[in-house]
Amino acid sequence: MSEELAPGLYLVATPIGNLGDITLRALDVLKNADRIACEDTRQTQKLLNHFAIATPTTSYHQHNERERATELIDALKAGARIAVVSDAGIPGISDPGSWLVNAAIAAGIAVIPIPGANAALSALIASGLSTEQFHFIGFLPEKAGARRTRLEDLAALSRDSAQTIIFYEAPHRIAETLSDLESVFGPTLRVVAARELTKLHEEFLRGTAAEIRQNLIARDRIRGEFVLLIEVPAKTAGAPGPVSETRETISARVARLQSESGLDEKEALKRLARELGQSKSELYRELQRERARRK
Ligand code: SAM
Repeated sequence: MSEELAPGLYLVATPIGNLGDITLRALDVLKNADRIACEDTRQTQKLLNHFAIATPTTSYHQHNERERATELIDALKAGARIAVVSDAGIPGISDPGSWLVNAAIAAGIAVIPIPGANAALSALIASGLSTEQFHFIGFLPEKAGARRTRLEDLAALSRDSAQTIIFYEAPHRIAETLSDLESVFGPTLRVVAARELTKLHEEFLRGTAAEIRQNLIARDRIRGEFVLLIEVPAKTAGAPGPVSETRETISARVARLQSESGLDEKEALKRLARELGQSKSELYRELQRERARRK
């Protein structure tokens, strides 16, 4: 591999857990670049120390992305070779990078991808779900209502064949997201949770959202990093999908509980929330959204 790197912006993939996943080309670029822009300099320093790379680092993260981009572009215009890395995986994928890429393109600077490990695609290829069409979402909104709305919007999209949808999810939110997936896409949805990819405790949980949720909440603690994947069946434009069935189901189920058990709406919601493993406030918001839609 050449010692002489051409000037430009190098987007370098780094391992997502297993240091053996660094590529020879990534090492070459990291070693020979003038500077490495890192999401977290301390995190990247561990990787650089492991491979005995002494290239200077500079921080480049979501909070200083724009200001730092101006400085990096000036250096690139003067002929620098700058490598960009995130904490793990491919920069720019649910990580900083795209702002700098666009600034570099606008300034006529060469942008060079150095491919490698990525959590979404590693999970997809081993999931057993359709790889023909897939839709990468990244992180869902943190707030329960916004997350639910985002999932409903995804369920409402028409698709001419089955499609796999890929999410990144934090361990403390995964059980809640699995409940949302079940209520929005229905109980037969095929789900895969890929945990700790490329690491010692790598694990693939395959089943329905309820089965995977049960498995996870039965553990002492839900640990590790997750990619969640679902396979959504084909749905033509205008055809009723699981979302509208679910919308009906929630209002209808509350009404049925009220008439069958003589419960008031608040009590019926509480019982339904218990049955579905969701919070009462979340279900209440869902009910309000259904009513608003019907107006
Ligand atoms: N840029 C990275 C990539 O190319 O995959 C993703 C960065 S994003 C900030 C981090 C998220 O990716 C984690 O919260 C988790 O959802 C997923 N992830 C990263 N490493 C993972 C791993 N080893 N196993 C499972 N999921 C992982």
